[in-house]
Amino acid sequence: MDKIRKRSIIHLDLDAFFASVEQRANPKYAGKPLIVGGIFNKNGELSRRGVVCSASYEARKCGVHSAMPIWEARQKCPKAIFTPARMDLYRTVSQQFFHICSSYTPFLEPVSIDEVFLDVTSCTALFGTAEEIALKIKTKVKEELHLPVSAGIASNKFLAKIATNLGKPDGFFVLPDERVAEILADLPVAKLWGIGDKTEQKLNRAGIFKIGQLVSMPDMILQSILGENGPKIKLLAQGIDDSQVVCPEEVKSISRETTFSENITDLEQLYKVLLIQSQKIGYTTRKQGYAGKTVTLKVRFAPFITVQKSITLPRATNLDNTIYQTAKELMNSISIRQPGIRLLGVKLSSLQQDIQPRQLSLIDNRDGEEKWKKLTSSVDKIQEKYGSSAIKRAALLRKEKKTE
Ligand SMILES: [Mg+2]
Repeated sequence: MDKIRKRSIIHLDLDAFFASVEQRANPKYAGKPLIVGGIFNKNGELSRRGVVCSASYEARKCGVHSAMPIWEARQKCPKAIFTPARMDLYRTVSQQFFHICSSYTPFLEPVSIDEVFLDVTSCTALFGTAEEIALKIKTKVKEELHLPVSAGIASNKFLAKIATNLGKPDGFFVLPDERVAEILADLPVAKLWGIGDKTEQKLNRAGIFKIGQLVSMPDMILQSILGENGPKIKLLAQGIDDSQVVCPEEVKSISRETTFSENITDLEQLYKVLLIQSQKIGYTTRKQGYAGKTVTLKVRFAPFITVQKSITLPRATNLDNTIYQTAKELMNSISIRQPGIRLLGVKLSSLQQDIQPRQLSLIDNRDGEEKWKKLTSSVDKIQEKYGSSAIKRAALLRKEKKTE
């Protein structure tokens, strides 16, 4: 029988992702300590509450890291610039990043918004060695997205991720099998998957700090500290990991839900929420290259009575306005009873790839739809350039004026 084929795995991780996106959007932030996160009031003042979502490498030099309370980050890095997180923008950029990766292999497993594993074992004949593919992706991400990404290349997922972290930031690190034992030996045990704070403390108390020490421990002792995970962790410590790159299931629906802090009975207010949700769904759907036929409205009355209603459209759509008008129609068919609505959500499903031949509009009178399409695409461009608050539908502005 053949020997088990050696795998080629690439791990990619965008460096200081949110902060890098903000630095890209605002040239005056480049090279400066920038912290994304925190809560800002109406006057743009930063509250002491909240945590750091992402810190640029310049801010990290002062000891700032993700999940640190804002007040502490401010203390550590008084010169830091703070900016609010724009998750919709980061999700879009993330999709663009995954899209670049997917042009080299269908075996792709996103592990977070800015991190992905690729199995390129069967793609090397087409695109070159794993190193070449990783370099191509790195270059493309730099040229097309203007973002730094670190890459790690090895024969399994665990080692590829170790390699990425060894190269960060803007890294490119190849970890060949011959060097695995030597490189792992010196790393702290916490780098092993499955070792949390508690297990790390247990190991440290037993005098085991580095992976090399763990490997040379008798199985009996490891078993008593690590329990049933012992054998698996020992294999990882030796650089052995046979976990597969698992492609996520295809997207089946795109939805947004809002839970209110108090029950709502005012229809105008509910429309406003539906509009925001429809815009977010439309935007995400367009960016992922889909269109959907079924719009579902979910309404939860306090306490815990949920009503769902759907309309299936004659044609798939990804236009904010069509989603909104359909959701509004569904809303109008539901009578709002006391004590009001607790949760409101919109879902777009029956998704399909958004392929719409231009010619169709010539044989079919879709003037209205074409206009919306043009408007929507301009709005997307403005939002991508200036952020999602730059442009708002008139209905939202009118409402804001009224409440001011
Ligand atoms: Mg990252």
